Amino acid sequence: LLVVGSIGAAFVAFQWSGPTLDPESLKGARVLVTGASAGIGEQMAYHLAGFGAQVVITARREKVLQQVVEKCQVLGAQKALYIAADMANPSDPERVVKFAVDKLGGLDYLVLNHIGPSPFAMWDGDVEHTRWLMQVNFLSYLQMAKTALPTLDQSKGSIVVVSSLLGKMCSPFVAPYTSTKFALNGFFGTLQHELAMQRSNVSITICILGLIDTDSAMEKVKGITNIQAWPASEAALHIITSGATQQTESYYPWFWYYGTLIRDWFPYFRDISIRYFYKY
Ligand code: NDP
Repeated sequence: LLVVGSIGAAFVAFQWSGPTLDPESLKGARVLVTGASAGIGEQMAYHLAGFGAQVVITARREKVLQQVVEKCQVLGAQKALYIAADMANPSDPERVVKFAVDKLGGLDYLVLNHIGPSPFAMWDGDVEHTRWLMQVNFLSYLQMAKTALPTLDQSKGSIVVVSSLLGKMCSPFVAPYTSTKFALNGFFGTLQHELAMQRSNVSITICILGLIDTDSAMEKVKGITNIQAWPASEAALHIITSGATQQTESYYPWFWYYGTLIRDWFPYFRDISIRYFYKY
């Protein structure tokens, strides 16, 4: 028992402290962040700017991107540029990566973070919405990864995929969204194996996030659940740290790692407690 307890405590301590970021490693790093006009992506842009990185940010709203870029310049970014794009448009993902590679002379990090809006409600039978969301939240990630892989291979760079606990566990009100996140975990988890087997220089980090207090998420869950939300700025720093230290998979907040580990031990109680958290 003592041995098992010590191993458990060591695991918890490791997850709690997590890997340490060397901010110098990000000075001048060439980073493309998607979904950076708001929420966690915007916070990532500010952290990266503070570390002196060269950032290209993208999302649909040009005016907002312009404001984020201006703030990045004030915070100390070596370079800060934006490109407006709609990931629902199948030609935009490639266009965005080409823009970033062209303007930065290569790429060290591709941070895939954007999501399209999706209702937080019982599934209403709308198949077309899920098809559309699959393009925005999933297929565009593949298109960007494919376009960036050769340049990332040259720079020994990384792809960072922002995923969710809802790509690991099923929960009510998010059927289309959760489908895209399960798909991401499956695809990029497989790609991790394949790149390792091919001895590729490119690393992939998959970040699993719990509920984060972004405006869009808080607006959705208001009045439906009281699950604690964690700060977007901390989540953003966690993602950057995980990518820069080449973690295969990371969890924020850290205890969800254990949540997913024991997920299937007591399925009946798991499902009862998940439903208990939502008002209907
Ligand atoms: P937000 O809704 O705050 O931001 C989404 C971003 O994506 C915005 O910059 C938005 O900008 C952009 N976007 C939306 N639609 C498109 C589109 N069609 N094409 C291009 N860009 C688009 O998201 P969060 O910050 O809350 O989430 C960020 C990531 O974290 C996501 O991958 C999400 O799944 C993950 N996550 C978030 C959690 C949370 O509770 N917040 C929990 C678990 C995971 P614009 O409107 O200008 O296009």
